[in-house]
Amino acid sequence: MRGLMQDYPLTLPYVFDRFERLFGGKKLVWNTVSERKRTTVAEWTDRARRIGGVLDALGVPADGRVGTFAWNTADHLALYWAAPCTGRILHTLNIRLFPEQLTFVVNHAEDDVVFVDKSLLPLFWKLAASPTGETTNKPGDTFTTVRHVVVMDDGAPGELPDDPRIHLLDELLADAPPVRFAAEDENAAASMCYTSGTTGNPKGVVYSHRSIYLHSLGVLNAAAGIGMMERDRVLPVVPMFHANCWGWGHAPLFAGTELVLPGPQMAPAAIATMLEEERVTMTAGVPTIWMGMLPELDGRDLSALRAILCGGSAVPKALSEAYREKLGQPILHAWGMTETSPLGSINGTISAYDGLGEEEAADVRARQGIPPVGVDARIVEPGTLEELPWDDKATGELQVRGPWIAADYYRVEHSEESFTADGWLRTGDVGAIDPYGNIRLSDRTKDLVKSGGEWISSVELENHLMAHPAVAEAAVIGVPHPRWQERPLAAVVLKDDQSATKEELLEFLAPRVAKWWLPDDVVFIDEVPKTSVGKFSKKDLRTRFADYQLPDVSTGS
Ligand code: AMP
Repeated sequence: MRGLMQDYPLTLPYVFDRFERLFGGKKLVWNTVSERKRTTVAEWTDRARRIGGVLDALGVPADGRVGTFAWNTADHLALYWAAPCTGRILHTLNIRLFPEQLTFVVNHAEDDVVFVDKSLLPLFWKLAASPTGETTNKPGDTFTTVRHVVVMDDGAPGELPDDPRIHLLDELLADAPPVRFAAEDENAAASMCYTSGTTGNPKGVVYSHRSIYLHSLGVLNAAAGIGMMERDRVLPVVPMFHANCWGWGHAPLFAGTELVLPGPQMAPAAIATMLEEERVTMTAGVPTIWMGMLPELDGRDLSALRAILCGGSAVPKALSEAYREKLGQPILHAWGMTETSPLGSINGTISAYDGLGEEEAADVRARQGIPPVGVDARIVEPGTLEELPWDDKATGELQVRGPWIAADYYRVEHSEESFTADGWLRTGDVGAIDPYGNIRLSDRTKDLVKSGGEWISSVELENHLMAHPAVAEAAVIGVPHPRWQERPLAAVVLKDDQSATKEELLEFLAPRVAKWWLPDDVVFIDEVPKTSVGKFSKKDLRTRFADYQLPDVSTGS
């Protein structure tokens, strides 16, 4: 027997209409280069509909890719909705990609139009293409499909290049009527985002209306996490171009929250000021952001904050504890990937852990968390489909499946390197799961250090090192060793006013890890290289230390 319920499509226009109708009087706040701006939801939804009109006027076809090269602003948020709600596909471009990668993703996705913040135009325009792809000897004739570049005013000064492809959004809006939003096919593509691509070319992940709808409900509900509610005021520090903005471009409209957007003002002090002045209740960003903000917390009233979400890389326990000391609440750790929309797990405190001592509770908080309803997780013996037990000991590759997990990459041949034969996503992350379903990642497959056939977790070594009072950042990589194949090398950044020697750091590590895990050497560097989304770039570090000679290799100790 079939169920007898209505066939109501899980598409974004229905959510947008409801948000407009119910919450028109609420506020939306964002920063330009120099000032704080405010609008009402009613004004913003009207503007989003008129941006839909602009897409029509520019002749962007159904299915046309609408690129964005922008900060977290009200207009960028409007595009999150205007593109898919008029049958187009939003394609967020990472403003920190190298030129070759940016060119690759724009051409691979076949972006028809790109909306660019004015302060970012010089960066983008250096690469702007001729519309037909022919060489015109302009700097960087690289984008082969982009017909229009629409500039969004973010308060940056300066003239625009004189080129027929360039338009000002505000001028286009003057003639654009608000359009009705409609999309009936829940499986149609709504937006796309390329992975940051640690190896090879970036790969395109294509989200559907349905996947975004269900993922947003997952973010609202965030079982074992914190959820998102109507009375929240949320500030995504995570860029709108990183991994679907962790769902924070969509979920707030599902919940009816107020949104506070930092725009181009991404310095720690500016973000801390915005959190304080706008009485933000929830915020989210990668560990680098919260590390940078730590010195900014003193003397501020951040009492409205109820959740500081952090993911993208492992959250060092010391960082979470520092927030607990200063703000009275630890960082809320979550795990995900561009491929998982990205919510894959979240670490709220479930009742099973009640009664733990402070130290043990901090250890639990450093775990990646429990998958919400809608995400199935398993750990698997590498190279097999054999599921390992959830005993927190057995370690294997983390694999996930669910309605908001990628089944394929855009225009890349399906491969068992990325997806298992039985349809799970291979995350490339390695870890264990405890009996409550709480994940503890020990590394990326590619970042594990393999010493004499045994694995050493670089993440665990880093976490311990970053708990040393003199250490600001620490990254551990494997370097070649004649006897053990690889041995760990720790690259350490000291805090400005602190000092520590290699011997002191190794002594600090000694009681915390197995003896054979101790790094063979410690090098002091000015900064750990970061990826385009602010994570430690082990790839760059490995290149830098490719020829590194460990001390005492002759003894193999
Ligand atoms: P991206 O698609 O750029 O967001 O990268 C996804 C990858 O980031 C994951 O496969 C993990 O390796 C890493 N990652 C994300 N969140 C966490 C976390 N909480 N702890 C450890 N690694 C993480």
